[in-house]
Amino acid sequence: MKYKFTINGEQVNGGTHYDIENPATNAKIGASPIATREDFERAVTAAKHAFSSWSKVSDSERKDACHALAGVLEDNMEELAALLTHEQGKPLNGLGSRFELQGCIAWSRYTADLELPVEVLQDNEEGRIEMHRKPIGVVGSITPWNWPLLIAIWHILPAIRTGNTVVIKPSPFTPLSTLRMVELMNTVLPNGVLNVVTGTDELGEWLTEHKDISKIVFTGSIATGKKVMWCAAKNLKRITLELGGNDAGIVLPDADPKVIAEGLFWGAFINSGQTCAALKRLYVHVSIYEDVCIHLTNFARSIPVGNGIEETSILGPIQNEMQYNKLKELVDDAVANGARVLLGANPKNGPGYFYPTTLLADINDDVRIVREEQFGPALPILKYTDVSDAIARANDSENGLGGSVWSSDKDKAKAVAMRMECGSVWINAHGAIQPNVPFGGVKSSGIGVEFGSEGLKEYTTIQSIFGL
Ligand code: NAD
Repeated sequence: MKYKFTINGEQVNGGTHYDIENPATNAKIGASPIATREDFERAVTAAKHAFSSWSKVSDSERKDACHALAGVLEDNMEELAALLTHEQGKPLNGLGSRFELQGCIAWSRYTADLELPVEVLQDNEEGRIEMHRKPIGVVGSITPWNWPLLIAIWHILPAIRTGNTVVIKPSPFTPLSTLRMVELMNTVLPNGVLNVVTGTDELGEWLTEHKDISKIVFTGSIATGKKVMWCAAKNLKRITLELGGNDAGIVLPDADPKVIAEGLFWGAFINSGQTCAALKRLYVHVSIYEDVCIHLTNFARSIPVGNGIEETSILGPIQNEMQYNKLKELVDDAVANGARVLLGANPKNGPGYFYPTTLLADINDDVRIVREEQFGPALPILKYTDVSDAIARANDSENGLGGSVWSSDKDKAKAVAMRMECGSVWINAHGAIQPNVPFGGVKSSGIGVEFGSEGLKEYTTIQSIFGL
């Protein structure tokens, strides 16, 4: 089946297409259109035109539209979940496609109900001053392939809620689910408010450079984020960058290895590790190191990996060959450098890009899989003796997205959490994001935040009105 763009509320054929494959089977599942410069310009023009009216509709109308979008997602949840599984590889069950769709619905509803009321900054004999928040214009959204629909919702909903219009460009690896979701969302939106175009990475550059696009919201790698920032400077676009992470977890000596094993596992292996704020390096106190390794290995063995369309699968394949090869290289390098394999590290040849759940012990900080973001189902487990040393090692990274501390004493854990250089820290959990809590990275992991009213504000500019 050939998928289509949605531009100005209409289904638009692309001239050329490329095949999308199922990462569990390598079977072709559909063809994605490749936007020409002309297709792209049509989408930007439609969004620009729609902005003149959408920016002026009442707040309650925009709120209702966002609730209607949540309804559309709910009504079409099973169809979208199945398409996501075929395209992305994540299972229907577990923390997979249905979970992702439930997140889309929850985030849509929560964002719909957020308000940014006028603030009165002064109201006295010298006059009244009000601060208003206004939409920015056309928002260009660029998304990655790991959580294609949820991340699209994180970009689209706050943009639309605050009166902006959107042109979204999904990852070339996972375009189909976004094409279909935007088509469905357009059944309840005015024409041009939400447009989707797909194609190669070049389309991302067109978006970031375009003079009629006023803000870019980008989720992806640090390397591409730097390019986005560079291009966006040309017309001083507003930017939100949610970039890569190399999150560390620190297990304090008072933690119970048996109790924390399940939380550690899901912190690291959610979406087969292909998650920005997944646990990617685990520092464990020497006194409980072997126990943590044993309990984590036992739990990991119990989680079935398979084709996501089978209801029994809880973890699926890597999404694409490039990522599979990168992960394989990093694990092979760790093993060559003396890592002890507790589990996995020995993939079978296809079909599909299945990589076994892998746990690596006795590994040093300078090994590549510790220094670089592996973005796959392999966790290095490192030993420490002094907690200050563990914090220093955890912080010794250009990344600063998330972190976690594992302990049976919350006060002790909080003291360690506050010394970690990252945007979010979880105690006895990892990566559990919520729509009411701002999420974003420090250092090279990003600029700005998403979620909650802090995230909503990023889609507005401030206008202060004096002399009232
Ligand atoms: P990527 O940077 O390769 O691609 C992301 C998007 O950018 C894709 O749509 C791609 O087509 C587009 N793109 C490529 N070149 C571009 C350019 N020059 N200008 C504009 N756009 C361009 O990232 P990926 O491999 O798709 O995603 C994995 C990365 O994303 C990981 O590093 C992960 O940690 C990160 N990520 C971060 C978050 C977060 O919230 N911080 C969430 C998910 C993923």
